[in-house]
Amino acid sequence: MTTSRPPVVVIVGHIDHGKSTLLDFIRKSDVVSGEAGGITQRLGAYEVERERDGSRRKVTFIDTPGHEAFRATRARGASAADVAILLVSAEDGVKPQTLEALGAIKDAGLPFVVAINKMDSQRADAQKTKQTLADAEVFVEGYGGDVAVAEISAKTGAGVPELLDLVLLTADMAGLPSDPSAPAQGFVLEASKDRTKGVSATLVIKDGTLRLGDFVAAAGASSPVRRIEDSHGKAIEEATPGQPAAVIGWDAVPAAGSPFTTHETRDEAEAAAETLADAEKKFVHSTVEAAADAATLGIVIRADYLGSADAIEHELAKLTTDRVRPLVLARDTGDISEADVKRAAATPGSVVVGFNVRVDRQAATLAERDGVPVKTFGIIYDLVDWLAELAKSRTPKRTAEVTRGEMSVIRIFGEDRGAQVIGCRVLSGEIVGGDEVRMLRRDEQIARGRVKGLQKQRIPCERVREGDECGVAFDCKLEAATGDRLVAITLVEE
Ligand code: GDP
Repeated sequence: MTTSRPPVVVIVGHIDHGKSTLLDFIRKSDVVSGEAGGITQRLGAYEVERERDGSRRKVTFIDTPGHEAFRATRARGASAADVAILLVSAEDGVKPQTLEALGAIKDAGLPFVVAINKMDSQRADAQKTKQTLADAEVFVEGYGGDVAVAEISAKTGAGVPELLDLVLLTADMAGLPSDPSAPAQGFVLEASKDRTKGVSATLVIKDGTLRLGDFVAAAGASSPVRRIEDSHGKAIEEATPGQPAAVIGWDAVPAAGSPFTTHETRDEAEAAAETLADAEKKFVHSTVEAAADAATLGIVIRADYLGSADAIEHELAKLTTDRVRPLVLARDTGDISEADVKRAAATPGSVVVGFNVRVDRQAATLAERDGVPVKTFGIIYDLVDWLAELAKSRTPKRTAEVTRGEMSVIRIFGEDRGAQVIGCRVLSGEIVGGDEVRMLRRDEQIARGRVKGLQKQRIPCERVREGDECGVAFDCKLEAATGDRLVAITLVEE
């Protein structure tokens, strides 16, 4: 039996363009839950119902920090989402992360619609925003193309119903066949460990139906399905295609972004968890590659959700240069503990960072004693900025030679107080008294020397520039000859 299932939607775009605000608005105006703040737990995804042409349609929104699950699953050649909303602020237009998100959408081959947000703002300029989109080769309807676009305000909700209609239309065009009688399969969006509840994971079901009594497997973990919760935290007996659902009772924390499968027995699920874990290995830590002789910055990451930890790790990988590389020593969910500080202390220069977690008292005391920097953040970008600064300060200094200017020797005058006196013409840049020079004859370096003094029209001066002719008191073991080139270099620390 094949039916069409609700689309799974992800909102992507540049930071501060209003992704969270839009998600909040959609959640609050949901026709089913009705009331605001009806969500008691954070699932990483939620389902809303929307009336369209007299019938009620469901849409599942992925709401993970940094949309890491979206990114992680993409790396595996699949996507947890069916449709993307590319959100662009009408105040700013396309920004770097808009382009990054667009690249991800294209890589995943995801159908998408554009939402131009903040239309209520005085600074909003939809036309200009569409132009920046066109510059990025996204041609929206009415602006030379056929990419669906809605002008919205996530703040007031204006245009949001139209946006949701476009999303449903796009999903209909993509066609999302599913077989509710099949065993459930899909992706792990989030997973977290709670001291009292145990390990819980949010699954987004792409096909099939998940039922109580099933066994599920994901990379490195499996679980009997004893309790399923919907996105309102309500216990349900089954979860259908397109629906997000939390399963509680895993034997370990499954990797966010991992595919999941459903099985009839625990043994089968455990075996599948191993197979999935093997397939997973090539993704884990592949982002942080070793640079041979670079300095390392050891980092222990603690986050509220594994999805956040993944997002942080992904961002950190971008800090890698040929001279410094962040090395994730450990990552886990929950508060920062003594063990984290010890782990960081074992690798000198390492730090512990927390995202939406606290530092327990023993950990704080130990960190103070051992001088291990421990810092917590509520915003991923602040955390990454802090580590970026740290990485910069840890980057070993390197001196590089920069060419300041070049001159050719046009006349040899003789000698004065131990220095050669020569006439030169400055070919490019500038030469400053005291500069170190490389002496080139027929394009080959034959000696190094120093400019002791400069004269222009017999008047001593500090510097000469391109086109100038000058007298140079030149200190060099080798005698200069006409036609030699003198390249002035400066050493810069970088
Ligand atoms: P995110 O980083 O993309 O999740 O962006 P947020 O949802 O956190 O929004 C960033 C800022 O933009 C917040 O201060 C919001 O109040 C503001 N914002 C979001 N949507 C709108 C909108 O439609 N109109 C206006 N005027 N401000 C908005």
